[in-house]
Amino acid sequence: MRSPFGETSEAMFLTSGYVYDSAEAAEARFKGEDDGFIYSRFANPTVRMFEERMIALEGAEDARATATGMAAVTAAMLCQLSAGDHVVAAKALFGSCRYIVEELLPRFGVESTLIEGTDLSQWEAAVRPNTKVFFLETPSNPTLEIIDLKAVTEIAHKAGARVVVDNVFATPILQRPMEYGVDVVVYSATKHIDGQGRCLGGIVLADQAFIDDYLANFLRQTGPSLSPFNAWVMLKSLETLDLRVREHCRNARCVAQALEGSSKVLRTIYPGLKSHPQYKLAMDQMDLGGNIVAFELDGGKEAAFRFANALQIVSISNNLGDSKSLITHPTTTTHQRLDDSARAELGITDGLLRLSVGLEDPADLVDDINRSLSVS
Ligand SMILES: *Cc1c(COP(=O)(O)O)cnc(C)c1O
Repeated sequence: MRSPFGETSEAMFLTSGYVYDSAEAAEARFKGEDDGFIYSRFANPTVRMFEERMIALEGAEDARATATGMAAVTAAMLCQLSAGDHVVAAKALFGSCRYIVEELLPRFGVESTLIEGTDLSQWEAAVRPNTKVFFLETPSNPTLEIIDLKAVTEIAHKAGARVVVDNVFATPILQRPMEYGVDVVVYSATKHIDGQGRCLGGIVLADQAFIDDYLANFLRQTGPSLSPFNAWVMLKSLETLDLRVREHCRNARCVAQALEGSSKVLRTIYPGLKSHPQYKLAMDQMDLGGNIVAFELDGGKEAAFRFANALQIVSISNNLGDSKSLITHPTTTTHQRLDDSARAELGITDGLLRLSVGLEDPADLVDDINRSLSVS
């Protein structure tokens, strides 16, 4: 979409409202007789350009951008659920997503069941007559479990339920869940889509009926809209998303191989390594292994902290998908809210670290890691 000035780079329309040529024109627009913009809580030209670019990338029919990834997840769920409905979700979820399913939805009369997402029989067994939604992440956070999108979608559709997938870890470059029949795909654009740690954002992609019948009006009335400024930043980032994600993956592979070769590391989890328990499924569903590597150090929390504190290139942060490498100790940060048994169930041990591999020189990263392993 270009303005009459013919700019190369997309225009940033920082405007909350729009003016009409006449009172009649305003009336027509509110009646839906013409599809111009009304108010930026509903739609904005720069935000729409970002949505259209994502629609093309994902192969979806339509999409709506949101202020954050969590606004996207919350809207994707609340817009289609009512009291009396039931949700089945894989228990290995991003912390806030787990809160939505486990705590928020039940407060409004939506029941939820958390299961082991890699076990197909548990999805099947959890289905009830009122099951409306299956929700999952693959690869999951932080232990990088892979869930079979095609098989889970078949179970859901047989039960008359929709599948919502949080595709943040894979990005639309590596995995397109709609190719397996998934109904709704959500992203935190804060992660790889921005990719440079600047702006929060999110997006929900689905077919036209889902957007028209559920999502569009929900967002319009509740208001978690993406700022046009952030949409403009995301648009610029999308131009390099493919290049960045592939380079992230190459670096992550080098780092994962280095970790796997160290005697200080009890286990290295990376979907692009043959040692991953679901390597075959991962490589069927994803083009490459992604940029997140999880690993467990011998020596628990003390060893993990010594290692993280010794790193010079990699920074300690709970964020991910940034061009800068970031390391997280899930037990004491992102997954602190869970009790010991819930963490144990997810394989989150005290020695576990999650590394979001950035775009630095891979040899420098491996040196930083090997040096830090020697003191951990
Ligand atoms: C970060 C993240 C979210 C939430 O996104 P925000 O933009 O921080 O709100 C949801 N799911 C996954 C898997 C994430 O990594």
